[in-house]
Amino acid sequence: MAGHSSVLAKLGGYSLPITSYALQAFVSEPLKPVVDTVVFSPAYGTYFSQSDKGGLVIGGALDRVPSYGQRGNMPVQEEVLSGLVEMSPMLAKVKLLRHWAGIVDVTPDSSPIIGPSGVEGLYVNCGWGTGGFKAIPAGGYLFAHLLANGSHHEISRPFDRSRFETGRSSMRVPPPASRTRRKEQTMQLFSCPFCGLRNEREFRFAGEAGKVRPDTTAPVDAADWAAYQYAQRNEKGEVREIWSHMPCSEMFVMVRNSVSMDVLSTVTLRKDQP
Ligand SMILES: Cc1cc2nc3c(=O)[nH]c(=O)nc-3n(C[C@H](O)[C@H](O)[C@H](O)COP(=O)(O)OP(=O)(O)OC[C@H]3O[C@@H](n4cnc5c(N)ncnc54)[C@H](O)[C@@H]3O)c2cc1C
Repeated sequence: MAGHSSVLAKLGGYSLPITSYALQAFVSEPLKPVVDTVVFSPAYGTYFSQSDKGGLVIGGALDRVPSYGQRGNMPVQEEVLSGLVEMSPMLAKVKLLRHWAGIVDVTPDSSPIIGPSGVEGLYVNCGWGTGGFKAIPAGGYLFAHLLANGSHHEISRPFDRSRFETGRSSMRVPPPASRTRRKEQTMQLFSCPFCGLRNEREFRFAGEAGKVRPDTTAPVDAADWAAYQYAQRNEKGEVREIWSHMPCSEMFVMVRNSVSMDVLSTVTLRKDQP
C-alpha cells in the first residue's frame, strides 16, 4: 500500500514509523536513440534513461515537504531539469510530455518494514521508499516465507519494526540523496509568526506536533521511547506540525493540509506572544 501505509494502519488501529513524500518523474517527447543506459548524477540528484519509444524518463530526489499531494511542482521541475541540462546540455530544448508524482513511504532508516503489524494475524510489508520496484522480488519472497511459517526468514528479521524499539539498525544504508541547491526558487510561501510570509525553502520540518516526550528522569520503557521517537500519525488531510524558520531560528506550529499543501495557520510556541 505504498503511499498509504499509515492510512491503512489507522484503519487497523496500529501506527507505523513512516512519513509519506511525493516523488516526481517526467517523460519527454520521443527522440532518436541518445542513451542506452541509466545516467545518474549524485551531485544533482537527477537521473534519466530512454524508453524503447524514444521518450526520456527523468527523475530526481524526494520532495522536501512530507505530503500526499500526488502532483508535480515547479521547484522540483526546475531542479531536476537543470540537473539534466548540466549533465547533458544537448537536451536543453527537449520538450516534456508528462510530469507526475507518486507517494512513497519513508522510514527513519530508509529501510522497509517487514513483519507483524502489532495486530494479531496482520503482517506488513511496507516503507520501501524510492526502491520498491527493484527490491520487491526479494521482499515478496521474504514476506511469503513469513506468512507461510509465521516467523521471519533470517534475511527479513532485521527489517522487523521492533528495530525501532531495540535500536538495532536494519542495515547500513545511505540516507536518501540530498538535493543540491543551486539557486533561489519559489515554491510556496509559509508564514513565520515572527517574520511573516517567506519562501518555503527557509523553513525546516521538525516533526509532528503534540508528541509528549517521556520523562527521562526515570527509566523509560523501550516501547514508549520508540513510540515517541518514531511513531507517526502521518495523516492524510489536516496535519499539525512543528516547523522552524531557519533565518530567525524560531520553532512554531503550522497547521496545513497534506493533500492540497495549503497552509491553514501558523502559531508561535512562545507563551508571551499574542
Ligand atoms: C516517480 C517514482 C519513481 C520511482 N522509481 C523507482 C525506481 O526507479 N526503482 C525502484 O525500485 N522504485 C522506484 N519507485 C518506488 C516504487 O514505486 C515503490 O517503492 C513501490 O511501488 C512500492 O511497492 P508497493 O507494492 O509497496 O506499493 P505500490 O506499488 O504503491 O502499490 C500499492 C497499491 O495499493 C493501492 N491502494 C492504496 N490504498 C488502497 C486502499 N485503501 N485500498 C485498496 N488499495 C489501495 C494503490 O492504488 C496501489 O495500487 C518510484 C516511485 C515513484 C513515485
